[in-house]
Amino acid sequence: MDFHLSPETAAWREELRTFLAQELPPGFEGDDDFFDNEEQMAFAKEFTKKLGARRWFAPAWPEEYGGMGKTPVEQMVLNEELAYHRAPSGGRLFTIGITGPTLMVHGNEEQKQRFLPGMASGEVWYCQGFSEPESGSDLASMQTRAVRDGDDYVINGQKIWTSNAHVADMMMLLARTNPDVPKHKGISAFMVDMTAPGVSVQGIDNIASRHDFNQVFFEDVRVPAENLVGGVDHGWYVATTTLDFERSNIAAISGARRTVHDLIRWAKETHPGGRPWDKPGVRHKLGDLAVEAEVGRLVAYRTVWLQSKGEIPNYEASLGKIWMAMMGIKVANTGLNLLGAYGQLEPGSRWAQLQGRLRTAYLLAMSGPIGGGTSEVQKNIVAQRGLGLPRGT
Ligand SMILES: Cc1cc2nc3c(=O)[nH]c(=O)nc-3n(C[C@H](O)[C@H](O)[C@H](O)COP(=O)(O)OP(=O)(O)OC[C@H]3O[C@@H](n4cnc5c(N)ncnc54)[C@H](O)[C@@H]3O)c2cc1C
Repeated sequence: MDFHLSPETAAWREELRTFLAQELPPGFEGDDDFFDNEEQMAFAKEFTKKLGARRWFAPAWPEEYGGMGKTPVEQMVLNEELAYHRAPSGGRLFTIGITGPTLMVHGNEEQKQRFLPGMASGEVWYCQGFSEPESGSDLASMQTRAVRDGDDYVINGQKIWTSNAHVADMMMLLARTNPDVPKHKGISAFMVDMTAPGVSVQGIDNIASRHDFNQVFFEDVRVPAENLVGGVDHGWYVATTTLDFERSNIAAISGARRTVHDLIRWAKETHPGGRPWDKPGVRHKLGDLAVEAEVGRLVAYRTVWLQSKGEIPNYEASLGKIWMAMMGIKVANTGLNLLGAYGQLEPGSRWAQLQGRLRTAYLLAMSGPIGGGTSEVQKNIVAQRGLGLPRGT
């Protein structure tokens, strides 16, 4: 495996950096999914459209669907640069990282023509309606029902922890279409308009008092039958492809890597009490984080390398997700520890260090091993599909 970027890809990275330097205000510290702030949201929408206008929102997609036909490696470089510069994500993960690629695998041609260009332009944002109050790791036990009625399906039920549902235009929803067969075999996937009558969204504040995820209720919501993706009762295959895409995301590792670099910069500056860098213990901790960040980057690169060979990452992506979640916690814990009492001050506070970012990161890192499938479930996948160990009873 050669980790050097081709001259074309290296030039693409430089082009992206120039664009980000021009488009992001100096010292930009965007909380990219902090969507309950109207000003930040307006900036995110504007920025996303600028990316879309250049076909940079989904550059690896085929041209006919709004992309540029770039390689998965070039797409990864884009994701890496956006996350490193903390650019507004514009719901990229759910729209471009998950729903779009899944539709390319399981959607019919009419659906691809209808949905993909809106995603690629950055104008139509998606969310993922999978988890329910009683169905998380055991997703196939979901109870939300979809019943055929003429040319429509009628949806009733509830989803929970739906990131970005309050700012999304569309949802990829899983619902039970057949309750009389084994649970994995009676689920279908739908593209649902979030403005359809009967859809209601209720925000849930997370541990950092931010509104990022929601509960979504469906009361007699009519969804056209042509919005069913992947065939009736084949939703489980659609769901597992979706999750594989989600786990190959490099943005988390790149964001954590940026925080490590910020901490190193901070340690080299003089603060009340001296220059942290002069203490061997501080240098040791930062060196340790730098190693973890580089390992995480290589694990993520490996996943993208598999994708670039036309393979859908499976246990390799789970391995990467476990590492990213662990690393997020370690970077936040160590960072907060280094900043001392100042690190606990809120963003905006006069004495807050690094814009209070570590305090927020510390709180949010706890959800890393849960969202997108828990670390325990990822370890089961690595054990069974990666190591060939038997399923537990
Ligand atoms: C920040 C965040 C964002 C999210 N965004 C979305 C979203 O946009 N859309 C969406 O649909 N969902 C979303 N989720 C939900 C997420 O997918 C679920 O929380 C996750 O799958 C776990 O499900 P659960 O919360 O029901 O926990 P449970 O499944 O009840 O798990 C409880 C505990 O039991 C363990 N456990 C369960 N089964 C096993 C097993 N077989 N082996 C070993 N241990 C096991 C788990 O690891 C966990 O520790 C999000 C969650 C978070 C935290």
